[in-house]
Amino acid sequence: MHVMVLGAGITGVTTAWFLAKAGFEVSVIERQGEAALETSHANGGQISISHPEPWANPSAPMTALRWLGREDAPLLFRPHADLEQWAWALAFLRECLPARTQRNTQAIARLAVYSAAQLRALRAETGIAYDHLERGILHLFFSAKEFAHGSAKAPQLEALGIRARVCSTDECLGIEPALAHLRDQLAGALYAPDDESGDACRFTQALAIRAAEAGVRFHYRTTITRIAQQGGTIDGIDVRDRDGRTGMLKADQYVVCLGSYGRKLVSPFGEHLPIYPVKGYSVTVPVLDPSRTPSVSLTDESRRIVCSRLGDRLRVAGTAELNGFDTAINPARCQAILDWLESRFPGATDIAAAQRWTGLRPATPSNVPLIGHGGPSNLWYNTGHGTLGWTLACGSASALAALMCGNPAPVRDFPFLPR
Ligand SMILES: Cc1cc2nc3c(=O)[nH]c(=O)nc-3n(C[C@H](O)[C@H](O)[C@H](O)COP(=O)(O)OP(=O)(O)OC[C@H]3O[C@@H](n4cnc5c(N)ncnc54)[C@H](O)[C@@H]3O)c2cc1C
Repeated sequence: MHVMVLGAGITGVTTAWFLAKAGFEVSVIERQGEAALETSHANGGQISISHPEPWANPSAPMTALRWLGREDAPLLFRPHADLEQWAWALAFLRECLPARTQRNTQAIARLAVYSAAQLRALRAETGIAYDHLERGILHLFFSAKEFAHGSAKAPQLEALGIRARVCSTDECLGIEPALAHLRDQLAGALYAPDDESGDACRFTQALAIRAAEAGVRFHYRTTITRIAQQGGTIDGIDVRDRDGRTGMLKADQYVVCLGSYGRKLVSPFGEHLPIYPVKGYSVTVPVLDPSRTPSVSLTDESRRIVCSRLGDRLRVAGTAELNGFDTAINPARCQAILDWLESRFPGATDIAAAQRWTGLRPATPSNVPLIGHGGPSNLWYNTGHGTLGWTLACGSASALAALMCGNPAPVRDFPFLPR
């Protein structure tokens, strides 16, 4: 049975790997010259099991209103005359209802716990190196009010099977000594010891090489122009190669892993994927003074900024902007991240050498990914991972492979169907 995976980001490459391991013949189509050159390229690096709560939660509407009109706001809505954008925003508001937030949090938590175990197993099996650290994530709070609110989440996380410990300022400094000069500003933290960090791009590209060695065929620099559907079945994939030649590639089954771009390709045959691109930024800086640069991954809960140590680099990421498919770098939004870095860890890194990057999170309103069988009989989805694609990738791919083999789902309430 030949399966064609569409897209070679973290989701597509892990899907190809787990399908090949399950015994399928696998090929992958990707428009870039290598894997992980779009949203999976320079993300925050966190394997964040301890953050299953989606952005769509009861406090989100007030927070968004507070930030309205601020160019450096962590969350920015740039209204367009675009029905899809408004429909997505309305659906997002609906997901902020408490019962929906609770359901979505549980679904993401179950998949995240399973996914972390799959990532550990894959790492042990392949020995892939990707600057990974198993030092947990510290969720930092800089006001007593936020700390009280954040601390209340510890028992909720424990109930979901996720270890999380409330830490005083002194305990924070014990876990991450590079926070020492923030002693007077920190109110406390929540520490999730089972979280990890690592370079998603290095991981994806190394896994793509292993997958190719295992027989997966990668068609790079090949752009999908149409998914051809007839009589409820996918007929083939119309593509254009690097020299402008066109043709159709065929398989028995197809899996859509196209990030924010899948929606437009499946809509002509009546499939509706509630995915909208949510733009984010990162900067990657060389470490100058390792003793003053954190190696425990951090989440600044008040500024919605995360940072992860990747070998001799520090990656700092954040911000969310609903602005269509625009990937231009907005200097004000990048500067907000650099200002955060300089204020939190002055002199620790070489800010002048910062590499700026932006990517489009393929976000569903609930942040629950779309994994499972599509409308056409031989079409599957593994997409829409929004803020947590790196965290959820291995579990999503492994669970989808189980379903495609006709096995029971390894995660409760799985699959997460698109319809
Ligand atoms: C700033 C930022 C920080 C983040 N931090 C974290 C984090 O710390 N932890 C975490 O878990 N997640 C994080 N994420 C989210 C995570 O990066 C994404 O969820 C994940 O990368 C999505 O992977 P994907 O494979 O679905 O999409 P992509 O990586 O975008 O892959 C889709 C692929 O499809 C290809 N493609 C698209 N259209 C076509 C076409 N027509 N023909 C051929 N190929 C096509 C693209 O070239 C691309 O390679 C972050 C995201 C951002 C933006």
